[in-house]
Amino acid sequence: MNGIASIPTPINESVLSYAPGTSERAALKSELQRQSQMVVDIPLIIGGEEIRTGDTFDVVMPHAHSHVIARAHRAGPEEIQRAVEAAATAHHDWSTMPWEDRAAIFLKAADLLAGPWRQVLNASTMLGQSKTAYQAEIDAACEIIDFFRFGAHFTQQIYGIQPLPAPGVWNRSEYRALEGFVYAISPFNFTAIGANLAGTPAMLGNTVVWKPAHSAMLSNYYVMKLFEAAGMPPGVINFVSGDAPQITDILLSRSDFTGIHFTGSTGVFNSFWKKIGANMSTYKSYPRIVGETGGKNFIIAHPDSDWHAVKTAIVRGAFEYQGQKCSAASRAYISASMWAELEGPLVEEVGSLTMGDPRDFTNFVSAVIDQKAYDSIKSYIDAAQASDDADVLVGGECDDSEGWFVRPTLIRANKPDYISMCDEIFGPVLTIFVYDDADWAETLTLVDQTSPYALTGAVFARDRNVIREAMDALRNAAGNFYINDRPTGAVLGQQPFGGARGSGTNDKAGSMLNLLRWVSARSIKETFVSDTDYTYPFMDEK
Ligand code: NAD
Repeated sequence: MNGIASIPTPINESVLSYAPGTSERAALKSELQRQSQMVVDIPLIIGGEEIRTGDTFDVVMPHAHSHVIARAHRAGPEEIQRAVEAAATAHHDWSTMPWEDRAAIFLKAADLLAGPWRQVLNASTMLGQSKTAYQAEIDAACEIIDFFRFGAHFTQQIYGIQPLPAPGVWNRSEYRALEGFVYAISPFNFTAIGANLAGTPAMLGNTVVWKPAHSAMLSNYYVMKLFEAAGMPPGVINFVSGDAPQITDILLSRSDFTGIHFTGSTGVFNSFWKKIGANMSTYKSYPRIVGETGGKNFIIAHPDSDWHAVKTAIVRGAFEYQGQKCSAASRAYISASMWAELEGPLVEEVGSLTMGDPRDFTNFVSAVIDQKAYDSIKSYIDAAQASDDADVLVGGECDDSEGWFVRPTLIRANKPDYISMCDEIFGPVLTIFVYDDADWAETLTLVDQTSPYALTGAVFARDRNVIREAMDALRNAAGNFYINDRPTGAVLGQQPFGGARGSGTNDKAGSMLNLLRWVSARSIKETFVSDTDYTYPFMDEK
């Protein structure tokens, strides 16, 4: 095509309300009913071919764990190697395809998702990952659409970054795909993260082996089908599940492994980094290592701030999606004078939160993701109930008879280094430390030093000097810092998301910074009239 294409300027996808009487509510309810009656057989998808190994595992609804909604096939060593070979086969044509054609596939996927696929993705996310309608909408619909539209826009901007000219010389930058395959490994908690981890390197011309989390298999399978429906060629993204350490060991020992795109827990990411280090002599290129990991996100409230706003920030920030957002508030530092007013209303509000099956739209929260998560979260609550250093103020009830339900729980810690102030719990548990009003500056130091993580955090204050002081003291304590707002709900293109320290490589998912990790620039200098004499003027005698 002769013409310089231009990607439409993206705007964030509007979040639908699902209020009673809306057409989206009716469509979602009917799709929930349809999917609730199915058991989807999820194959591996390698080189465009659906492969069924017969070695399957069950995918269940966390809020009704006897209800199987899918059976997914596991890859063995042979299929894992096939996935890499399929990625290698697809690499040449995909990486050299005109970038507008690649972008068009993602723009089409975004439009399909905004239209006919919206409720397929939302319903599967609600049923498989126990999200409410609203939480599914902002994740599986809006954020994926934004990833694709903004990604195409940033791709064009990157390709437009070109070097300086010089007389007689034409300088160009070519943003090549990496030489090899990218390994994308996604977590359970956001359907959009899977779409981004696999999709973004592909947008820049890379080919990918994608391993989703077991508990997010259903929605992630539909993401893969969406890519196919949008015209993604076979082998560009290869969808495999199975034994995670085995898949990882095989992929990280290949010479053509060229990058890892991970979101999940810090310990798992650290284990990858070590393996990559140990295998360095094997690789053709230095691999790109991109990982967004754990958090211990904070709220700190100054005595001069509005306790009503702090209450809402705690309830939404700590408990939406059962506290299983990477950004969820997990520790709060409240001044003693504010606590005197806040405690009663906060405890009452948390105690009143509705919990249950997300198909009942009156519920605000649902179940946690699986038995392992349930047991781990419960162990922190049990310990707090037994400890002299902490009190459970509200919640604490756990029941795994039908689903993995943990009631939203507030713990008050009597010392700032109590265990639930420090560890990532990844569930509906917020621990509060009440500080003396006079100890504001010391409390800022506590917030900064209590946890190895630095993902999100929020300060509530009115006085501008106080806000400035908190921003300085907590400069490295959060990659996403909020002033008078809850620390969750980052919107793509508006608050680029990611943390440093133990929270990851801070490559800001969905931003141009992340996209830059998936290209390898080639500088091209072309001389129009080549030199034919090797000597220089300074060499003349006179
Ligand atoms: P996880 O680390 O258990 O799993 C993530 C992925 O790694 C999954 O696909 C899993 O199968 C795989 N995996 C697990 N153990 C492995 C091993 N030993 N070898 C190879 N692969 C392995 O994380 P999760 O429970 O799915 O997600 C929750 C975690 O993710 C939390 O720590 C949360 O903070 C983090 N998270 C961070 C962000 C962020 O942007 N920083 C976003 C979402 C989630």
